[in-house]
Amino acid sequence: AASGGPTSIRQVKLDKECELRIEVAETPFRLRLLTGTAEIFGTEIPPEIWLSLPPRLKFAVFTWYGATIEMDGTTETDYTADETPMVSYVNVHAVLEGRRNRAKASPGDSDASQGPRVIVVGPTDSGKSTLSRMLLSWAAKQGWKPTFVDLDIGQGSITIPGCVAATPIEMPIDPVEGIPLEMPLVYFHGHPTPSANVDFYKVLVKELAQTLEKQFSGNAESRAAGMVINTMGWIDGVGYDLLLHAIDAFSASVVLVLGQEKLCSMLKDVLKNKPNVDVVKLQKSGGVVSRNPKVRQRARGGRIREYFYGLANDLSPHSNIANFSDLSIYRIGGGPQAPRSALPIGAEPTADPTRLVPVNINRDLLHLVLAVSYAKEPEQIISSNVAGFIYITDIDIQRRKITYLAPCHGELPGKYLIVGSLTWVET
Ligand code: ATP
Repeated sequence: AASGGPTSIRQVKLDKECELRIEVAETPFRLRLLTGTAEIFGTEIPPEIWLSLPPRLKFAVFTWYGATIEMDGTTETDYTADETPMVSYVNVHAVLEGRRNRAKASPGDSDASQGPRVIVVGPTDSGKSTLSRMLLSWAAKQGWKPTFVDLDIGQGSITIPGCVAATPIEMPIDPVEGIPLEMPLVYFHGHPTPSANVDFYKVLVKELAQTLEKQFSGNAESRAAGMVINTMGWIDGVGYDLLLHAIDAFSASVVLVLGQEKLCSMLKDVLKNKPNVDVVKLQKSGGVVSRNPKVRQRARGGRIREYFYGLANDLSPHSNIANFSDLSIYRIGGGPQAPRSALPIGAEPTADPTRLVPVNINRDLLHLVLAVSYAKEPEQIISSNVAGFIYITDIDIQRRKITYLAPCHGELPGKYLIVGSLTWVET
């Protein structure tokens, strides 16, 4: 680790195919490329220009041909690694590139015109999000507009946690800003883990896949570019079933398995009858940093904060007030079960996981993050995507008024709101 001090500027020379791995501390840190070429997770960094990296960011500057990097500021750690799996990753990219070109050359044919649908799987902290990002950025650099699908509802990188989402990637992903949020397609589950309602999670994954399928059918360019699907690190038991469900729902054609022999052989075995699906094992990078539950929790809060306030506190959300009667809030699944007396003799009361349960407005809603559905009727809520999110800051029972934070001023884009268990304490 570098120590601080008045002059903390230093240079690091990287040989070809090496990377500089950095964990940013809580204090300001910046770097720039002095000579050669280098990239951060698949996105080239411009020469000479200082890049400010946010606190706690963990990343690597990789060079294919050699580079000199200048750093300014203290870090938690920084070290150079000459062993990385980058060559195997870029080889995957080259294969995908070939498939995209083939797809582009067969516009009329509905099967052949479909580019690769890649799903990245592996245990927690195996580098799935990072590999997804590199594959997307390399494709975008070559002019493709691949679709990024994020099924990781614990640590989503498209929008806030608790969602499954998709968005086209039109440019290499900015190492600091992340995924641009123009018009993502977002479905709200409302919990940071699917286990809170597994069936509802599956419904949303299916909806997202079907909506993308429809979009692709009218857009040859997106279709040929294909998709990269990032998944959760939950790979045992129900988590494994959810992976199989996702592979099926999105008709994945390439399954990239990071860092786990056992998962790879299980998937190879169950998918062996599907000649159109390739299961490929890839090495995990030694640079991937493990995150404990506390760090993950903190990252979730950070994502919600970023939604309302922007990465650099550059957004100003609005505090709005609505009457109880203006909003209809629903919870999905669970809720009060039918009383035994209302059921046929012998039937056991079960909670329908996708039942719509109206929620009474009371102070239990304080500090919860709700999604604003595009649904026009309550029946459409389960299958509708969401426009955005609000955060409840006050409930006045006497005057029947709700105060909430929204990214913009004025009326909400819909009156139906979905609530789960996603909370946030503004700090
Ligand atoms: P999850 O279990 O949340 O799904 P994941 O498998 O997607 O995690 P990543 O998010 O890709 O893992 O990586 C974990 C952390 O390690 C991230 O902070 C990422 O920026 C960092 N990281 C990944 N690769 C490297 C590397 N080569 N050098 C330094 N840091 C890295």
